[in-house]
Amino acid sequence: MSGTVENQPSGRAPHRARRENQQAVIDCLISEAQLSRAEIQSQSGLSRSTLSDVLQALIAEGVVEELDAAPERQGRGRPTRPLRLSGEIARVAGVALTRAGSTILVAGLDGEVTAATRIAAPEPFDLAAATSDAATALAGLLRGADGEHGLAALAVGLPRPITATRPGRRRPPAERGEAFAEAVGVHPEWDNNSRLTALAEAQWGAGRGYRDFAYLHLDRGVGGGLILDGRLATGARGTGSEFGHLCVDPVGPRCWCGGVGCLEMYASMDAILKAARLQSSDELAEAATQGVVPAVDDAALRVAQAVSGIVSVVDVGRVVLGGSVAQVPGFVAAVAKQVAATAGRHATDGVVLVRSAMGDDAPARGGVALALRSSHLLDGYRR
Ligand SMILES: [Zn+2]
Repeated sequence: MSGTVENQPSGRAPHRARRENQQAVIDCLISEAQLSRAEIQSQSGLSRSTLSDVLQALIAEGVVEELDAAPERQGRGRPTRPLRLSGEIARVAGVALTRAGSTILVAGLDGEVTAATRIAAPEPFDLAAATSDAATALAGLLRGADGEHGLAALAVGLPRPITATRPGRRRPPAERGEAFAEAVGVHPEWDNNSRLTALAEAQWGAGRGYRDFAYLHLDRGVGGGLILDGRLATGARGTGSEFGHLCVDPVGPRCWCGGVGCLEMYASMDAILKAARLQSSDELAEAATQGVVPAVDDAALRVAQAVSGIVSVVDVGRVVLGGSVAQVPGFVAAVAKQVAATAGRHATDGVVLVRSAMGDDAPARGGVALALRSSHLLDGYRR
């Protein structure tokens, strides 16, 4: 929030300035869940008096709640009462469509999941059918829950990159948005599941509290997300963070994407199993526990190469590794060792590598996080 410019009523429509100031406060609370007035002031860049007015209005509208001061802080001068978004005022939803099935979550504005379901993927897999099934399931979840509060925002993750129809706009085929609009009355935000997982890590997982970090998703495919200054970097066409197609061997084999020696060809679970001549991730875990598996070591070396490049370019202090490959015993430590052994110190000194802290519902949780961060969040409940 350090870049927020305070909007004074003079020079632009007062209601617009007020709205933008409210959104700045809400953005702070969405990122941190609970903050003191002083912390909000510091993060939003608003003056004390403007912040006081904005908070008074948001508390009166029931959007923000003032909590009781923590007991241990009482008795040491004037206790500060932390603030948070009210979970009650509206609901958001996060949906992840994958070839293994779809996860659908409904949450309050405080990010607490209040209803969840998982449905099977259509056989054979078809994205339009999976979308339609998920929209129907979400409508059912919303009907089954307390029906008083509307759905303020919805974000849906897809098992493939989202590409823009024109620069600066990310718009998937319209019919997929219409299934949700018809079922629940909200047009979704769309993103890729790996990028949404990065957002979930930022909000609730191993990236929590870090303004800048990279998430690499190493599973059947390889992807990820870059969190820069607290936000998911999208790039010019909305496809930023396609780490799977970083070249890690310029004389390597041709990838399905058209590139040569892409990271995904060495560090996806499928690639490692094929190179190790094993059938399942369980077999791989067993082999890695018993001794060195050359295919795992090679994958760790290639991931380390990618990590060093990413860190050199964008200077993230933390790298989170997730997906089934990161669960292979010793893998994260092997990557860290290779980064230390091969990268220049100025580039990677002090960089911390950690394993993902999220579970299987991470992409849908990331959808909740994206919906919470939607700039139109106020539209659903503002008086
Ligand atoms: Zn590729």
